Amino acid sequence: MSGEHRHPEYIWWNGERRPWDDCTIHVTELGWSTVGAVFEGIRAYAGDNADELYIFRFREHLERLERSMRLVRLTLEYGLEELTAATVDLLRVNEVREDTYIRPLAYARETSGKRFAQIANDAALLINTSPMASHLKTGLTQTAKVSSWRRISEDVMPPRVKNISNYRNSQLAGMEARLDGYDTAILLNHQGKVSEGPGACVMLVLGDQVITPDVGSGILESITRDALLKLCREVLGLKVVERAVDRTELYLADEVFTCGTAAEVTPIVNIDKYAVGNGEIGPVTRALEGAFDDVLRGRDARYGHWRTPVEVGAAAVA
Ligand code: PMP
Repeated sequence: MSGEHRHPEYIWWNGERRPWDDCTIHVTELGWSTVGAVFEGIRAYAGDNADELYIFRFREHLERLERSMRLVRLTLEYGLEELTAATVDLLRVNEVREDTYIRPLAYARETSGKRFAQIANDAALLINTSPMASHLKTGLTQTAKVSSWRRISEDVMPPRVKNISNYRNSQLAGMEARLDGYDTAILLNHQGKVSEGPGACVMLVLGDQVITPDVGSGILESITRDALLKLCREVLGLKVVERAVDRTELYLADEVFTCGTAAEVTPIVNIDKYAVGNGEIGPVTRALEGAFDDVLRGRDARYGHWRTPVEVGAAAVA
């Protein structure tokens, strides 16, 4: 990492590792170029000895990138093995030693003039990394507001994939919540059922059950959600229920948390001025944060298949 903004030395762009300063596009491309873009958000976590990073569920993220691209009619011209090697290389040459966000972004190369709705256009692809510290087990909590914006539905936009344009909906809900004095939003779908947060899924704890909106509720097909449901069942021994969730269940749950690559596990302690449980981080959320942290940092051998280890020690870079 270099410079006061701590940007990495290198970015992977269209098949090559390139210096940060060389990765520019013309300002006139700014308007439409991102409308058709899709992306991934992935994390790499430092292991306890800091000579090793673990990319979390990298394969699943790349497979979702493939699905996102397919849905917006962009062709992925690289194999998943190639993208894995490129990302591992990037983490090494950038000498990454800390928790890091990895963001592949795919977009149409040519969007100017009449090319706006061109089919089978060339896809450009970049992968960049930036530091993102974990907040697991730090005691961070959030308040939430049920948004007046509804989550985009299947007949408008494709909620299940990481389509950049979907995030305007998220942004409007997030801004509204912030301006109204809350940390985040929870969006309902067009059926009036709970969908998800602006960039995270939502889970409720009620007794020995963990309840979360099913994939038909207009949610992203979240990789963290899938992982946490497994950990709830297999490590914490809880019952897991995926179903339509009513708004009032949010207000009556024992515990609520959001989850996602950036959100990790984020306890929600107050929703629309209703204290969730006793208004503090609940025991299930706390236990799940610990179990998840053990998986992410390489301590839990049972979930080794979810980790792509990257040697980043001096020997590996040399
Ligand atoms: N929903 C939305 C809208 C998101 O942007 C994210 C973050 N990618 C999630 C849910 C959580 O998904 P994941 O666990 O795959 O990061």
